[in-house]
Amino acid sequence: MRYSRMFIPTVKEIPADAEVASHQLMIRAGLCRKVASGTYTYLPLGWRSLLKIIAIVREEMNKAGAQEIIVPSMQPLELWARTGRSVDYGPTMFRLEDRHGRMNVLGPTAEEVFTTLMAGEIKSYKQLPVNLYQITPKFRDEFRPRFGAIRSREFIMKDAYSFDVDPESLDKSYQAMYDAYCRIFKRCGLEYVIVEAESGEMGGSGSHQFTVPCESGEDTIVYTEDGSYAANLERAEVDALPKEEADAEIPPPEEVHTPNVGTIEAVCGFLGSRPNDMIKTLIYSAGERTITAIVRGDHELNPEKLAQIIGGEHIDLAAELTIEQVTGAKVGFAGPMGIAGKVSNMVIDHAVAAMAAGIAGANKSDYHVKNVVPGRDFALEGDNITVADIRFAGEGDTHKGKKLLFKKGIEVGQVFKLGTKYSKKLGAKFLDEEGHEKPCIMGCYGIGINRIFASAIELGNDTNGIIWPISIAPCEVIITSVNQDDREVARVSGDIYEQLLGEGIDVLLDDRAMRGGVKFKDADLIGIPIRITVGQRSLAEGNVELKLRAESESSKVRIEEATAKVIELVNELKEQLNV
Ligand code: ATP
Ligand code: MG
Repeated sequence: MRYSRMFIPTVKEIPADAEVASHQLMIRAGLCRKVASGTYTYLPLGWRSLLKIIAIVREEMNKAGAQEIIVPSMQPLELWARTGRSVDYGPTMFRLEDRHGRMNVLGPTAEEVFTTLMAGEIKSYKQLPVNLYQITPKFRDEFRPRFGAIRSREFIMKDAYSFDVDPESLDKSYQAMYDAYCRIFKRCGLEYVIVEAESGEMGGSGSHQFTVPCESGEDTIVYTEDGSYAANLERAEVDALPKEEADAEIPPPEEVHTPNVGTIEAVCGFLGSRPNDMIKTLIYSAGERTITAIVRGDHELNPEKLAQIIGGEHIDLAAELTIEQVTGAKVGFAGPMGIAGKVSNMVIDHAVAAMAAGIAGANKSDYHVKNVVPGRDFALEGDNITVADIRFAGEGDTHKGKKLLFKKGIEVGQVFKLGTKYSKKLGAKFLDEEGHEKPCIMGCYGIGINRIFASAIELGNDTNGIIWPISIAPCEVIITSVNQDDREVARVSGDIYEQLLGEGIDVLLDDRAMRGGVKFKDADLIGIPIRITVGQRSLAEGNVELKLRAESESSKVRIEEATAKVIELVNELKEQLNV
């Protein structure tokens, strides 16, 4: 490729809406342009990089036995209604009506389509296991699209779906994907950690997330220093707290008038108490059921954990009317006393169970109750009462006695054991060896192609621009021809260029009639891993200059040795990534 004929619109200005390095650099380096909120056009260099990521993903998926197909992005809403996800996905799913008034969605993922396909095709255990995947655009109307390619509304995802006869066979399919993911992220030059994750809306029994630790990440990794535990924040389990001992006997509960102070902060301000003295009562709806969840005032309820405890059903904060019916009070005054009989389930966080006493809502408008003793004033046991871990881990929490630490990360991929959630609902069944009909046991496996691209930039950059890992760099080598108008410079640059091309090296020749300074700046900005500088001065000594983008020093090489040396360097850098 000759730079002079390429479309690489680099810019000096940092785009005003770009908060993170990858977003700034993908615009500045001429990799992408924004079309609208959360949608981008990928320009030649950006697309080259994405294509390299896609090639790595495809190769590893094929090696792991998965087979590539392609399904439509536009899918009938009816399919999603059959699994209930037309509701669960909520406003994140784009919907569109066709000319016949039929509703469609733009697939945010594709479990429904893959499972329906298999429902029509699979008859016997002999056809299993099967693992199918696609690499296609996905659409999500994210609440807050941001950070450029990290959270956009249209992005390329590799999604794979496995169909097995039993849980043991699923374990093997899952492990094959897990191992393939490790190779993919390594080959893409990403440092990553694998954390236990909740399966969330996906349903199912087990999941791991592949996360790139990085300050600008939106995910929180929770881990122990010795590496014995790592989970994402939604999942991270915390130890129960030791039971608080009261200094003296706690007097009976006492109602206090707290007019119009419904929030924890307001009550604390009003009563002069601290948030950790408060007992917070939340009301959720799960289908027809009403659930009450109790957490300490300074803790935050983790809806994913709560959903798991009540059987994995989708939950939402209850409507105001429901809360008023259950508590008999306006919103803000719910409390644990006497509420168990009015709800389907009462789930109490174990930090509340450990409190000596607290202040809670009185289930009466404008009133709170002091001296509420868990176990004395409301039951911790009963048919519909559970004490469990339902809050987010926080500073000071431990897991199996070890202190929990927190760091930010970007989720680049996730693998799920789905079980039979989709196969049962969509009829993906087979006859086993004895002729019994059984639902397929499924797994699903996603990778964000654009997130890999953005994460690589987040991890590899400096004040001058991007520092690409060689495997996914738009080009492996750039030849900066400093004085292009000098015939000897042009000849030597051209020769090395042709030789490298002949050796299959992905090389960009900067043959623009521009000052050397401008060319160096652009080479640094677009981040090509190896640079050869051909200039009058070094040519006079029979040399060219060789420099790695990741290092500050350059070295001199004899002109006739340059090509061989560059090939050696390319191979070295690739080997480091196991490419
Ligand atoms: P997040 O929690 O960040 O919203 P998710 O868990 O909903 O992501 P999955 O459904 O697991 O995402 O999708 C698989 C992969 O697709 C993710 O691991 C991520 O790499 C990528 N991905 C998801 N949402 C986006 C998005 N809005 N923009 C770019 N990539 C995305
Ligand atoms: Mg995920």
